[in-house]
Amino acid sequence: MGGVDYPRTYQEFGSWFGNDADCREYLATLRWPTGFECPRCGHEQCWITGRGLRMCRACAVKTSVTAGTIFHRSHTPLSTWFAAIWMITSQKNGVSAQGLQDALGFGSYETAWAWLHKLRRAMVRPGRDLLGGTDRQGRPVGVELDQSFLGGRTPWKPGSGSAKVPITIAVERTAAGRLGRARLEVASRPGSKDMVDFAREVITPGTMIHTDGAAAFLSLPRLGYGHQVSPSTQNSLRVENIDAVTPGPHLVSSLLKRWTAGTLHHNLSRRHLPYYLDEFTFRFNRRNSRARGMLFYRLLQQAVETDPHPLKDLTGG
Ligand SMILES: [Zn+2]
Repeated sequence: MGGVDYPRTYQEFGSWFGNDADCREYLATLRWPTGFECPRCGHEQCWITGRGLRMCRACAVKTSVTAGTIFHRSHTPLSTWFAAIWMITSQKNGVSAQGLQDALGFGSYETAWAWLHKLRRAMVRPGRDLLGGTDRQGRPVGVELDQSFLGGRTPWKPGSGSAKVPITIAVERTAAGRLGRARLEVASRPGSKDMVDFAREVITPGTMIHTDGAAAFLSLPRLGYGHQVSPSTQNSLRVENIDAVTPGPHLVSSLLKRWTAGTLHHNLSRRHLPYYLDEFTFRFNRRNSRARGMLFYRLLQQAVETDPHPLKDLTGG
């Protein structure tokens, strides 16, 4: 609830998180929503030491609120992390590494870049729900599945080549005809075989999947899905307007291109592309959320459940 669980405005944000102890106690409520539990013996009562550690009253083991989270061993004050997360979530399109560096006064671009990448790893909720299935009223939710390309004329970073990268896009179409949640993936190569594998990973069995009717999709019914070829493909041998075949993925693809051009200034490498897709998906799936503070809350909640990613892991050594 806004104003209770998370701050609704910048003013509330400022008064809630004035110092590191406030930030730490807030993280503790996210990490132990039903109260502290000792990681060694399971005891539920603790003392809080002068350094803010939780010391189990039964076995005396000390636990840091941030241990094992993305804030683990960070030398930066938690309040700076909170400010970064507020910036990232309070703006509809997020922030670039340069923007974050300028706003928080980081000494280096690399620090801001690494922070954004750590946070992107927290944007993927492990075990998040599959697409499709039924809505709250029990009506079926379909999924449109297609592929798009990112790059091409975009100057990729040196060494990554300049080829277009195929992106598989699955997006829900609700009973009311609206777009629901999306999932995106970098495909290893263009073609529908990869898309079928992706469908099996992210779509609830039994869901009606709408495609352009390529041969590989004919296996979908055998895999437990419904399959419907978009009418515009069925009705004419030659498709005049390719965008009309799967309008959902097409729209998602245009938004993705606009975001990579606008916020990231095309400054993204192929190797890290999956994580940019995670951030895009996090934003897209919450695009109708009017409470920006809710995104702040969700991202922090997922951050305390996300393993630390030292810089060398992020850059691959
Ligand atoms: Zn204990």
